[in-house]
Amino acid sequence: MIYIHIPFCKQKCSYCNFHFSTSLNFKDEMLSAMKKEIFLRKDELQNKNLKSLYFGGGTPSILSGDEIKSLIDEVLKYYDFNSDIEITLEANPDDLDKNFLKQLSTSSVNRLSIGTQSFFDEDLRLMNRAHNASDAEGSIKRAQDFGFENLSIDLIYGSPTSSLEIWKQNLNKTIALEVPHISSYALTVEPKTALEKWIANGKVSNPKEEEQNREFYYMIDFLKDHEFEHYEISNFAKKGFHSRHNSAYWKYTEYLGIGPSAHSYNGFDARSWNIANNQQYIRKLDSNLLAKETEILSPKDQFNEMIMIGLRTTWGVDLESLQNKFKEDILDQFQKEIQQKLADGILIEENNHLKIPEKHWFMADGIASDLFQV
Ligand code: SF4
Repeated sequence: MIYIHIPFCKQKCSYCNFHFSTSLNFKDEMLSAMKKEIFLRKDELQNKNLKSLYFGGGTPSILSGDEIKSLIDEVLKYYDFNSDIEITLEANPDDLDKNFLKQLSTSSVNRLSIGTQSFFDEDLRLMNRAHNASDAEGSIKRAQDFGFENLSIDLIYGSPTSSLEIWKQNLNKTIALEVPHISSYALTVEPKTALEKWIANGKVSNPKEEEQNREFYYMIDFLKDHEFEHYEISNFAKKGFHSRHNSAYWKYTEYLGIGPSAHSYNGFDARSWNIANNQQYIRKLDSNLLAKETEILSPKDQFNEMIMIGLRTTWGVDLESLQNKFKEDILDQFQKEIQQKLADGILIEENNHLKIPEKHWFMADGIASDLFQV
């Protein structure tokens, strides 16, 4: 699978620390550099039968339909693909007007991941999103009118402007709009963001963990009642609408990341990441050089990653794979550490898979880190 990072946004959301620029001055140069990178790295993926192509960002919907098509064409020059390839575009509600959707409907994009975040203006203003509540709802309806049924929306819970009542209304609206996939995250205060500054100077109150906890577990019960499968801590899907791209990440499949700050993984022991600087990325590719650094993962790093990722999913960590892949000293230490958690019910073992029961998922990252090998 291939990930393409589009490093541009209209404006900076208050909570975001991703890599992007709000200046589009070098957009054409960036697209040329990305095409060059696709060409230079065309032999890196072992499997030439592409199952998923994902445009993330930043804001991929800031590009025109033709620009998106030209990037897809460039990828498909070097890879085979089945007719059911998943091609996802992350899109912001304010970009999904009729004109753009019309262009997109003639491309091979067949899945949209919409950055809705909330259907309430007060939440959206705090987040400094470029869209309002009316765009949030209208964009979903318009996308469906143009034939995009495979839709995911992002929703943020636990904002200081929200409440359990507002969160319930957000979820009700999502169901009414018949959205088949939801990615939902707690609002987190990242370093060097506007949100962090507003909280530090008292303009905004800190998100409350107990409120986030309540909203998270309300969402789990509510979405289950509406036939969603909770297949990863932050992801819920109706039958047939799991994200193929994300599921492949969580099953340690190799992937290629194109564009500034994009990460790649060889499916085994090497991870690389591109420089998170648009100008330097363009300059490197202009000289036919890749802008990436590579790290070889030690067995302990690989082990920790399998635990971290696996324990966030509904299928858990495959103990047979761990057994086959790692040496006894790592496994012995691990066995000692999981016994108490199994006894306490914080972990369960089912069909030779280790899992966190759903009622403890809110604490999953902490539970996983207790099992890390150092
Ligand atoms: S649109 Fe997405 S990537 Fe861009 S600033 Fe907002 S959250 Fe960050």
